[in-house]
Amino acid sequence: MAASFLSPVNRPNPTIPRVKTTPKPKRPLRASPRAPLRASESGPLIGAHMSVAGGLTLAIERALKLRTRAVQIFTKNASQWAAKVLEEEHCASFRSAWEESGLAPVVAHDSYLINLASPDPALRQKSIEAFAEELRRAEALGIRFLVTHPGAHMGSGPAAGCDRAAESIERARALAPGTSVIVLLEAVAGQGTTLGRRFEELARIRDQLSRRDLVGVCFDTCHVHAAGYDLVTEKGCEETFEEFDAVLGLETLRLFHVNDSKNERGSRVDRHEHLGRGRLGPEPFARILRDTRFRTVPKILETPKGKDGVVMDRRNLAFLRRLAEETT
Ligand SMILES: [Zn+2]
Ligand SMILES: [Zn+2]
Repeated sequence: MAASFLSPVNRPNPTIPRVKTTPKPKRPLRASPRAPLRASESGPLIGAHMSVAGGLTLAIERALKLRTRAVQIFTKNASQWAAKVLEEEHCASFRSAWEESGLAPVVAHDSYLINLASPDPALRQKSIEAFAEELRRAEALGIRFLVTHPGAHMGSGPAAGCDRAAESIERARALAPGTSVIVLLEAVAGQGTTLGRRFEELARIRDQLSRRDLVGVCFDTCHVHAAGYDLVTEKGCEETFEEFDAVLGLETLRLFHVNDSKNERGSRVDRHEHLGRGRLGPEPFARILRDTRFRTVPKILETPKGKDGVVMDRRNLAFLRRLAEETT
């Protein structure tokens, strides 16, 4: 299980050296006669982060096999600066596979290397350029939402970090003119000097952006819990969403990352756990699925993939479907 702690969706603390693991050879994707041709148009709006190994359109196929209605992808290798050029024919085949799939939203998550809040001018400039490229790629693929972690202030303080992050997003937008991708600022666990641990930090960034129509928030349950907000008790959970509404506005909540947490509330440690098996337990997920305000907000799993990359996703998705069914 150690390797799964470092799954690509579980951003490691930059101060802890990454443990090198030998990647296991990936099983070829087998054509399954049971794979539906189209995603369901009813049921909870759930999905998972899917690998694009072998080609972007394979993420669509993988999502259909898990019978999800939504999917999140990286549009490039998330741990490298360099990106393979997206040819127009690849974009077109992705867009048509997506259209045929009936999947409601496909969302993109940006690279782990990007730090829009960095006080280091060279790293910040590199981040701005890489983020502009993320915007262009999402636009070319027809993807409406791009999730980003606001960055780390690296000791320069949260306020200065938020201001730099906002200015960096503005500069990236200027480098990617004509893109209408909505940037989703993700609430983070608050490891190290990362920004977005408090809703106020996300608001400070959001408030400085000129295109307020092109910014929203991604609410990661593991992160919000690790950052110190209560999602576990019914009253605490209600208060957390009230606070979110007061600081950011619930209408800005455009995406959930539904992850349980290995660590306790306020630990500021970002380690995702399978749903119902961590410190959050089942109730927070049941509440989110039952809340009519969130019915149209996609809920994406970023839980460890396990050995074959499918079994645990199936289990976590079944868990969510069960919770959703109990409500109707
Ligand atoms: Zn996380
Ligand atoms: Zn997340």
